[in-house]
Amino acid sequence: MIGIYGGTFNPVHYGHLRTALEVKEIFGLAQLRLIPCRLPPHRQQPDVDGEQRLKMLQLAIAETAELQIDRRELDRAGPSYMIETLRSLREENPQAKLILFIGTDAFAGLESWHQWQHLFDLAHIVVMTRPSYNKPDLADFFRQRLYTNRRQLQQHMAGGLFFQAVTALDISATAIRRLIADGRNPKFLLPDQVIAYIRNHQLYLSPTQDT
Ligand code: ATP
Repeated sequence: MIGIYGGTFNPVHYGHLRTALEVKEIFGLAQLRLIPCRLPPHRQQPDVDGEQRLKMLQLAIAETAELQIDRRELDRAGPSYMIETLRSLREENPQAKLILFIGTDAFAGLESWHQWQHLFDLAHIVVMTRPSYNKPDLADFFRQRLYTNRRQLQQHMAGGLFFQAVTALDISATAIRRLIADGRNPKFLLPDQVIAYIRNHQLYLSPTQDT
């Protein structure tokens, strides 16, 4: 099973890293791929370019062999649609089960993703929740795909929806960008190497529309 963890990673932080490692272990994944997007389809263009966001990811996981980075969205022209990412991963790995991991915030907006129903043709989707999370009233489309047992993911190539509790870390890239723009210290929210990179390249010093 290959895990896919997409994001803007602007910048990557411990909320991403800790949950990525946890799901890699919980689901016994052969790989967990962090996939930075080039152009997020649903939000404004990040002011930090893809190569810099990639560099921060590389610094963050340099000593973490369990996690991998996949740069395919940075190398693809146009908006970074997850459906295209899954199609290319499926072509390269015809036998492997694919699991797309998303947070509850991303799941709340899933129905606005390009060809979102077809994501389930290619992969399972696992929503990473807080331990206390109450599942929302799910639309029929989702209820029909809901798995109640993790083992069901092993039994099918794609098409399942599963909710997995992970350690709740209330960290967001938006809050980190705000802290930095306010001249505050983001230490302990993201790796020191990433903070050093941000300082050296003077990133996030001025508030953007996004923050
Ligand atoms: P921003 O604040 O700019 O929206 P973000 O911190 O939410 O950024 P993204 O790169 O947009 O980070 O998120 C990538 C994926 O990681 C999404 O599926 C999101 O739900 C998930 N994620 C982000 N932060 C956390 C966190 N603290 N715990 C669990 N999942 C998270």
